[in-house]
Amino acid sequence: MNAPLRHKIHGHWRFVPPDAEWLQDQYWTQQKSMNEIADETQTSVTTVASWMTSCQVQRRTRAENARIHAGHMRGEGNPAFIDGSSAERYRQALGFHGNRCQWCGSDEGVQVFHRDHSENADVDNLMVLCVLCNRLEAQAWALVREGRAEMIVGDGTITIRFQAKGDTNE
Ligand SMILES: [Zn+2]
Repeated sequence: MNAPLRHKIHGHWRFVPPDAEWLQDQYWTQQKSMNEIADETQTSVTTVASWMTSCQVQRRTRAENARIHAGHMRGEGNPAFIDGSSAERYRQALGFHGNRCQWCGSDEGVQVFHRDHSENADVDNLMVLCVLCNRLEAQAWALVREGRAEMIVGDGTITIRFQAKGDTNE
């Protein structure tokens, strides 16, 4: 049973879709609404609906769904499917790092990221970060992308070196 994985490419959130068994369990066994599944997996209802279709999970009837309170859509960026071989690599990355943040070691809200922010899904380009370290990385990356700083990840440290103040600046 594989839950969806959340990861980030080019600053946009993307998802590795769950498998049919996981979706079936959430929707039919646990009786969650698509809105609830979307909230819990931090994606949009539209994305969950497309998972339902691709996994061939039957929908509840209109009458059953009428009881479900309509939640608001959430989700950042443009969640999109990726191919299965990449999905396998994301799971490998999580397995390799033991579902823990590579920076602070927390297991809270860990997600898979592309180190160089490209779509390269090679395992050595994947990293696992918790929700807080992700924010830190995103802030640092914004500066790197603007050419204002360099981010150096060491063993247990992260250094943000600002170009304007750096001694190697030309
Ligand atoms: Zn962390």
